[in-house]
Amino acid sequence: MVDLDDVRRIVGERSVVDGATLSERPQDFWVNRPTEALGLAKPGDVRELSALLALCHAKAQSVIVEGGRTNLVSATQSTGQTLLISLERLNDIGVPDRQGMTVEAGAGAIIETIQQRCAADGLRFGLDFGARGSATLGGALSTNAGGFQALRYGVARDQVLGLECVLADGTVLSHLSAFAKDNTGYDLKHLFIGSEGTLGVITRAVLRLHPAPHSVNTALMAFDTFEAVAQTLGAMRRDLGGTLSSFEIMWAEFFHFNVDALLNGRSPIEGCYPFYILCESEGFEAEADAALFEKVVGRAIEEGLVADAVIASSSRQRQELWKIREDFEAEMRLFPTMIDFDISLPVAGMEAFVNDVERRLYEEVPGNLGLHVLGHLGDGNLHVTTGLASPEGKGEVRRLVYELISGYDGSISAEHGIGLAKRDYLHHSRSAAEIATMKVLKQALDPKGILNPGKVI
Ligand SMILES: Cc1cc2nc3c(=O)[nH]c(=O)nc-3n(C[C@H](O)[C@H](O)[C@H](O)COP(=O)(O)OP(=O)(O)OC[C@H]3O[C@@H](n4cnc5c(N)ncnc54)[C@H](O)[C@@H]3O)c2cc1C
Repeated sequence: MVDLDDVRRIVGERSVVDGATLSERPQDFWVNRPTEALGLAKPGDVRELSALLALCHAKAQSVIVEGGRTNLVSATQSTGQTLLISLERLNDIGVPDRQGMTVEAGAGAIIETIQQRCAADGLRFGLDFGARGSATLGGALSTNAGGFQALRYGVARDQVLGLECVLADGTVLSHLSAFAKDNTGYDLKHLFIGSEGTLGVITRAVLRLHPAPHSVNTALMAFDTFEAVAQTLGAMRRDLGGTLSSFEIMWAEFFHFNVDALLNGRSPIEGCYPFYILCESEGFEAEADAALFEKVVGRAIEEGLVADAVIASSSRQRQELWKIREDFEAEMRLFPTMIDFDISLPVAGMEAFVNDVERRLYEEVPGNLGLHVLGHLGDGNLHVTTGLASPEGKGEVRRLVYELISGYDGSISAEHGIGLAKRDYLHHSRSAAEIATMKVLKQALDPKGILNPGKVI
């Protein structure tokens, strides 16, 4: 184990927090247990981080890099022997390059701050999700986060042109390329993006940007059938001229639960339908965009695809609609033991899959407290959540749902990653040969296994 005094000599006295102080804070956003760790080091630059990792490598000291600790898979869960590393001091954001449409940022920069900095220069950073105010660039890249706008701009991986990271032994790999085309050997950045801090520590990135849209149009639509939902997604992708940026589905049980909890039961759409879609388009010509949006939604109603719809007429109404989709506080109270699944499935199999989960839960887990299904339909990504009064039975629910996902050729993790929570289920989505290859890479890049040990594989 490293001596914290040696760590202090590298990063400075004030940039080390000891284990006793850390035990006063929760493990992460979701787990309210005290943090267990040897200490937390906050290097001020890549040179200090490199020296710190070289020391940890020499001493076989296990380390976990943490960002905003908002991940949902216990990816930063530590033990009393772990040295935590935070890159919060590496949070600089450069001046966006308007011609090249790029910006360089440190891994500790907060996602929302990057969004705001780029927006000030008329540019859009195409990554957005509920934890934007706490999650860091390093965390978002390490989990290859998705979110609300992946439909239009892609996932975290698609935002990155160049990357700098530090290997377990302190070696710095810096390729801060700002080019869309750069075929110079193996594209190493993609090894580190999505590897959840197990292969290296990401310190900076050059990010791809887009012109910031000037207009936003939002609608909540109700549907009688899933088939009509899928057809409407295709029609909106085609007819909105590429401006569709979100297409979020909510099954009735979740929608009405949140309407009751957040809006005292005053639904923006009267009646009860099996499926609701919150969709949004973002464009560059306010009047023309609004007219086109209204026309496309209107046509879907005329054709009998959409049963009812409301188009937000103010930013306040837009926020209210998004709140129904984004707010999970009431759900967290409803499910004392929450069991959530973040899965990818072919859109064609989603309805049957959800029906199967509902039937199996009803038959095999009678104590379940309900089934909330929502997700980023445009990306083939569903979030399926159920709850129990106590943790017993949690493993049974997981086994049941993961088996069903395998049967539908789905992925057990669409955007949240594997961490510790899903590690034992990885074989449902990846073959033995693939997992063996992951282990070869891990052994090559981190031979002593000091980086986020026990996570992913
Ligand atoms: C309300 C809410 C909504 C969310 N919505 C979404 C969503 O829509 N889509 C989505 O994809 N996720 C979502 N998430 C999950 C979470 O926000 C993402 O996983 C996020 O990317 C994690 O960033 P973080 O900075 O909090 O990382 P952390 O949670 O601190 O760390 C996550 C992982 O990355 C590693 N890591 C962190 N920084 C680095 C680094 N610099 N180098 C190497 N490894 C590092 C950690 O070791 C860990 O394995 C949501 C979370 C919340 C709380």
